[in-house]
Amino acid sequence: MTTSTPSRNGAAKQPHLRVIPLGGLHEIGKNTCVFEYGDDIMLVDAGLAFPSDGMHGVNVVMPDTSYLKENQKRIRGMIVTHGHEDHIGGIAHHLKNFNIPVIHGPRLALAMLTGKMEEAGVMDRTILQTVAPRDVVKVGQHFSVEFIRNTHSMADSFSLAITTPVGTVIFTGDFKFDHTPVDGETFDMARLAHYGEQGVLCLFSDSTNSEVPGFCPPERSVFPCLDRHISQAEGRVIITTFASSIHRVAMILELALKNGRKVGLLGRSMLNVIAKARELGYMRAPDDLFVPIKQIRDLPDRETLLLMTGSQGEPLAALSRISRGEHPQVQVKNSDTIIFSASPIPGNTISVVNTIDRLMMLGAKVVYGKGEGIHVSGHGFQEDQKLMLALTKPKFFVPVHGEHRMLVCHSKTAQSMGVPADNILIIDNGDVVELTPDSINKGEPVKAGIELLDASRNGIVDARVLKERQQLADDGVITMLAVISTDGVMAAPPRVNLRGVVTAADPRKLSLWTEREITWVLENRWQQLSRNTGGKAPEVDWMGVQREIEVGLQRRLRRELQVEPLIICLVQPAPGGTPAYKGRADAEPDTRPAPRGRRDGHRDGNRDRDRDRSERPSAPRRELASVGAGAPAPASAAPAPAPVAATPARVEEPEISGRTRRRRSAAS
Ligand SMILES: [Zn+2]
Ligand SMILES: [Zn+2]
Repeated sequence: MTTSTPSRNGAAKQPHLRVIPLGGLHEIGKNTCVFEYGDDIMLVDAGLAFPSDGMHGVNVVMPDTSYLKENQKRIRGMIVTHGHEDHIGGIAHHLKNFNIPVIHGPRLALAMLTGKMEEAGVMDRTILQTVAPRDVVKVGQHFSVEFIRNTHSMADSFSLAITTPVGTVIFTGDFKFDHTPVDGETFDMARLAHYGEQGVLCLFSDSTNSEVPGFCPPERSVFPCLDRHISQAEGRVIITTFASSIHRVAMILELALKNGRKVGLLGRSMLNVIAKARELGYMRAPDDLFVPIKQIRDLPDRETLLLMTGSQGEPLAALSRISRGEHPQVQVKNSDTIIFSASPIPGNTISVVNTIDRLMMLGAKVVYGKGEGIHVSGHGFQEDQKLMLALTKPKFFVPVHGEHRMLVCHSKTAQSMGVPADNILIIDNGDVVELTPDSINKGEPVKAGIELLDASRNGIVDARVLKERQQLADDGVITMLAVISTDGVMAAPPRVNLRGVVTAADPRKLSLWTEREITWVLENRWQQLSRNTGGKAPEVDWMGVQREIEVGLQRRLRRELQVEPLIICLVQPAPGGTPAYKGRADAEPDTRPAPRGRRDGHRDGNRDRDRDRSERPSAPRRELASVGAGAPAPASAAPAPAPVAATPARVEEPEISGRTRRRRSAAS
């Protein structure tokens, strides 16, 4: 059944349902799923992910939504399963780019979404419709969706039964089976069983913990462990967890009350989420339990509990700042008990352990880790996943919400439950699952990938920008200024300036290489880059000249020094007829030691004079910023005939790469 039948046009053959995840597969995060039948598109969730190492200056990762932008006329609405960032974090951003006429979702999730939409100024772009358990909503002509209450680390969470013309699809959303949920809202297993009896065409199920055997312990099981640590604490108690772990936060507030401690809240999301959850009744706590941070310092330590963000070691979160001694209101005391009631998301482990180390070095008692019973997952383990399969009895199965090995593991679980291997698809973002009443196939994939947003969440960091940032961080930057006359002559020696570049190369060698690249470009590319328009001066593609020099030098540095700094070339045009700078390329190899005290390798035309000057300790350092505009740089002292002197250097050059050779022979 897994044969690939490329079939983009549903009308051409038997109509089928297309399910296209744009995010959330082979990763944990940015869950975004497209359901498509006929002319209708329905979205399920639209989350964000957080950047990995090397994504410098990127704050948020979004799925590529080109497919949705191209097909936005067909989008009939969106379904939200619950309020976690990896499910709703992308919506406000997407609303700036394409239309979503209506969003149906749980009250708590939509309340949190409202805050994000207000911030992004997109409140008027869609209609938010709150749903209750067992509500059925119609989206477009072909979809009807029932919201089935499930249990998860976030309150007010749903699984979905999506009825389509080809059959019913169960989309679990994030879930675990918690029979004693903190808020008393139990999993509506009867409803799942009902659909299982009627016949479920396909199950799309949460794979996060598919590698973990057993049942996921109930959320309530952390209560006695937290209670023990809090009641035994001699001084202040500081607890960090995800603000969105509503049940956990509710229990911590309950424990504060029980142990006679007032609560101070730190971190914007902690304050926001608790305010929203209390307002909507998902958390019950008396007003006088909370004390503003400024006043809480007046209370005895034994009556204080601080609840804050920073469980993932995020550099700007409250606990991280406290650990670095940078928080204006809270400093660590020896008597503090600090509890990490969360486990690090893969990728955050190093920043979390660093935070723990710093807090311990400041003298606090830090409680963390698996053995303490202070954290349980919100995602079901293998036995939970089996129970889901047993209740829904799906014909076809697609594991979702997980990294590749988790998907594979989940598919094995399904096979052990009797789902034939041929009826299971392991897919990637952008893959298209095509379903008919009796088949499941992979169709032609659609464009999928990532969009990276910087702090403003407006600027998209594209692949080129990211590459440049990686180069800056890894290998630094080289800037150079070349003075070139409009008749294609190098009119002054190039100025080269290094920042953050570690190289054993003699700076003079660098400027020699630069001269050679410039000379090469002028000799071999000038014809293509300049155009005689009949006016006084030819029209020159200066950007093209810059690019050619950058590319050439880049390759040479990669080859010679195994470094890849970012290279920025600025060309300062000089009037035609400016005498040529003769260049050092034809100079004898210089055995004098490199000048000390300066890193930039630029030279004036008179090399000896310049070298002498640079050796003087007080030699003024010339910055690139000081040039680049205005009159041409002082022309070379050596009056040479135009065009630029031939460079015998090429003959000396022992290191001509394949590329240079090709370029040269092509030009000759
Ligand atoms: Zn979740
Ligand atoms: Zn999730």
